[in-house]
Amino acid sequence: MPIPYKGSYTKLREVAKKGVGLGGDVACPRPGCGSVGQLRFLGTWVDRDVVWLRGKRGVHEKTTVPLARCGGCKGRFRVLPEEMVPFKLYSFPLIERCVKAYVVDSTKGLQEAAKVVEGVQPHHTALHGWVGGIGDRVLEREKKNGAQRKQIPASAIVIETSKRLGPNPVNRWHEDVKIPSWKYETEERRDQLMGCAKLLNMGSFLFKRSLHPVSAWHGWVVSELDVAGWTFWSRGRCTTFQIEEETGGRVASVQGKKQRKRESTNGSRSPPSGMLAF
Ligand SMILES: [Zn+2]
Repeated sequence: MPIPYKGSYTKLREVAKKGVGLGGDVACPRPGCGSVGQLRFLGTWVDRDVVWLRGKRGVHEKTTVPLARCGGCKGRFRVLPEEMVPFKLYSFPLIERCVKAYVVDSTKGLQEAAKVVEGVQPHHTALHGWVGGIGDRVLEREKKNGAQRKQIPASAIVIETSKRLGPNPVNRWHEDVKIPSWKYETEERRDQLMGCAKLLNMGSFLFKRSLHPVSAWHGWVVSELDVAGWTFWSRGRCTTFQIEEETGGRVASVQGKKQRKRESTNGSRSPPSGMLAF
């Protein structure tokens, strides 16, 4: 389980020097350890592909993220900046943009919503999974997912945020949201869509000035509460789909590739061709 870093990738690259502590009350993610304040950067970086959102474009980059070691259990963990979602290729702002386009725009289907991003776009089935995963996260139904990891419950995030950022965002959380009936066939799916709408609604209330309010809220939670924020797990077992680039070409599979340790490199490389994991 990666450790969430309280800051952007740019900041992480600056601070992650060998021996430097992660600071604050960051707890070791290993079950049974949980040592607090014992994590230090190792000075080692490992490969991590990511599709950033740059303006309106999805940009695929091969990057690296630092490892940290826990002084308690000696375990090594990846440290991910606030833009990166554990086990997902697409960055948080890109996911938010597509989910918002689908949930908030009553005219857009999954395919159209996935295309609000230019450049490297997610497949619409990926978007379907994100909506399910985020919806379940908000509704605290993650246990149905199979991917069981301890996370702070959504209600606790809302209550803690309300306490610190008031006034009364909790009331807003309980406001009704309407979802066009053509977007769902089951009650479960309707609930997931409502969960996403709630999160988007509340995010834009709390972080009005941010371009991607839920991502901003996620970053705030990681920083203020030292927990993994709005991290979520997509529904469904299948996690690899083809996606199309603007050119209509295919991009290469990066999922399943053994992550090799290597020295940090600067700058991006050109995207591969074939399939992408998300
Ligand atoms: Zn530990």
